[in-house]
Amino acid sequence: MFVSRRSEAMRQALEGADIVPLTMSLIQLTGDLTLLDAVRPHIRGPWDYSHSVPDDLAAAIRSRLDAELDRLAAGGQPALATPAPDRIRAMMSAAVGEEVPAEYVPMLLQQMSLVAEPAAPPEPEAPVDAGRFRVVIVGAGVSGIAAAIRLRQAGIPFLVIEKNPEVGGTWYENRYPGCAVDTPNHFYQFSFEPNNNWPRYYSHRESIWDYLNRCTDKYRIRDAIRFGCEVVSAHFDEASHRWRVTCRDEAGRETVEAANALICAVGQLNRPAVPALPGLADFNGETCHTATWTEGTDFAGKRVALVGTGASGVQIGPRIAGTAASLHVLQRSGAWIVRSPNIHREVSPDKTWALDAIPFYAAWYRFQLFWGFADGLFQALRIDPAWHGAPGSISALNEHYRTRMLRYIERELEGRPDLLAKAVPDYPPFGKRVLADPGWFSMLRRDNVSLETAGIARVEPEGIRLADGRLIAVDAIVFATGFQAGRMLWPMDIRGRGGRSIRDVWGDDDPRAYLGITVPGFPNMFVMYGPNTNLGHGGSAMFLAECQVRYTLSCLTAMIAQGWAEMECRTDVHDAYNRQVDDELSTLVWTHPSVNSWYKNAKGRITTNQPWRLVDYWRMTKDVDFSDYHTMAA
Ligand code: NAP
Repeated sequence: MFVSRRSEAMRQALEGADIVPLTMSLIQLTGDLTLLDAVRPHIRGPWDYSHSVPDDLAAAIRSRLDAELDRLAAGGQPALATPAPDRIRAMMSAAVGEEVPAEYVPMLLQQMSLVAEPAAPPEPEAPVDAGRFRVVIVGAGVSGIAAAIRLRQAGIPFLVIEKNPEVGGTWYENRYPGCAVDTPNHFYQFSFEPNNNWPRYYSHRESIWDYLNRCTDKYRIRDAIRFGCEVVSAHFDEASHRWRVTCRDEAGRETVEAANALICAVGQLNRPAVPALPGLADFNGETCHTATWTEGTDFAGKRVALVGTGASGVQIGPRIAGTAASLHVLQRSGAWIVRSPNIHREVSPDKTWALDAIPFYAAWYRFQLFWGFADGLFQALRIDPAWHGAPGSISALNEHYRTRMLRYIERELEGRPDLLAKAVPDYPPFGKRVLADPGWFSMLRRDNVSLETAGIARVEPEGIRLADGRLIAVDAIVFATGFQAGRMLWPMDIRGRGGRSIRDVWGDDDPRAYLGITVPGFPNMFVMYGPNTNLGHGGSAMFLAECQVRYTLSCLTAMIAQGWAEMECRTDVHDAYNRQVDDELSTLVWTHPSVNSWYKNAKGRITTNQPWRLVDYWRMTKDVDFSDYHTMAA
């Protein structure tokens, strides 16, 4: 079924493949579950560097697998193509060195593509008869592409309106040096479109952009995207039950599109945030934001200030420091930056071959990443009210992570107590995004780099005046200061029932939605990557998009099938959900008094992050409870 040709080179490639996915593949091929007992004691975590399967056992597994591949090539079949839930759970638990609860099995089977996705099969045999029903999707980034693919497959007509000249959203816009995914790439991909050819474990933006372009073409959605056109407003017309979406092209021409449903897929990381520093307008040198970095910008030989040490800052800093005359890092808070051995590694040809050619290997590899980079971390976010342990942590488990993370920083900055004192974050791990180290600490040790923590007083024509009075003279300021994430859907003028604006409901920075997707008063509108959906502990935006698309598609198909002109979230359901969100959040690290971040709005409420594990959100969005909605027949 899977393997058509075998060669000596392929046999040798087995040597370079990871032993745990190989073992799980072998178990599925042979049905020999006793292998679990053999490997279990040697797996201490989901990462390839946390396995110590003895050489003789690993050699025996590879040799048996080699024979199995020959058997398959001769037309044999796997013994356990779809293992029973208890067996698959035992395999999952062994594969990551800890117990995987039963509740994960259905979601993981779907994520591993070991079962077809029930709600939206890749090519449905009988698309719905959508008639004149039409959807407008705002944005052709990850979420908009996911939505468009599923609508295309379901046979629902749609138009995507994209302000950029290309697809990709954040992966199109962000071009700063070092821009790369900081989620393992074989997990940061659509589950329905696995890519076994990622060049790196954490690919650069170009590879991800290529991937999104390939998805756009493969699923034939490019023709349905209007590029270079920005949605300026969307107003719900109660008489026709339709959204009237006004778009403006690059020449300033406006057109109005009517839509039965509106999907806002603009995301949270859409509008860059540049701090309003006093004196900035009078600065003599160059300024730029990481998200608006243009090709050709080069700070070689210049004196550069880098403001911000989040995900973007930590990626760009080492790249600037390599060529700049000097780099002054202006840090407001340190980041928990962890060892990530694969961060710069290319995926070897052997592994690429294994992902492609060995049945089930890619699924098990994805599962390991899914677990290690997502819910396996969630309990470390929970505040233990009884915890009176070391300061800077919120529970015994959180302290365990802190100790490990601290040890890494101490090792990296050994002999530099000056840097160590500044670099160690003063808040618990996971309070802000934990970052994979792309060379940040070795950058800090460079002679041409300084780490400034005194705070910025103002910008002057020659540079940045710090709060302690020193002037940092620079030729350029790079802002890696993030996005206006809480100001969701801004600057679009979105008006629902009765002409009420979304800003009237949400204010400037207090967005709420049911499941992060639907908002009372805004019928037939679906938000992707909306309020309280950001994943703060790990996970992948692609996973999130798939959950939200599945839910939205179920709503749209019901509207079409039932002939509903309107579908609007009930206020009581929305309010109860948001109370639950806030209650849950109050138990998690992001609300801890020691943590200040863009997750919080001006009133201290967390508006961006979800308090759920991935498995919870997957379950909540898997099926629509239509009693949560008011519906109106056409
Ligand atoms: P960010 O996480 O919001 O970091 C912004 C940084 O700027 C923080 O260090 C912040 O300090 C600092 N800052 C903000 N305003 C400042 C001011 N007025 N003065 C001094 N410092 C200031 O932004 P980001 O790094 O662009 O990342 C945003 C999100 O984008 C990430 O969380 C992630 O979801 C995504 N991202 C992903 C990748 C990827 O590889 N997948 C890469 C880049 C970004 P404080 O911490 O003190 O607020």
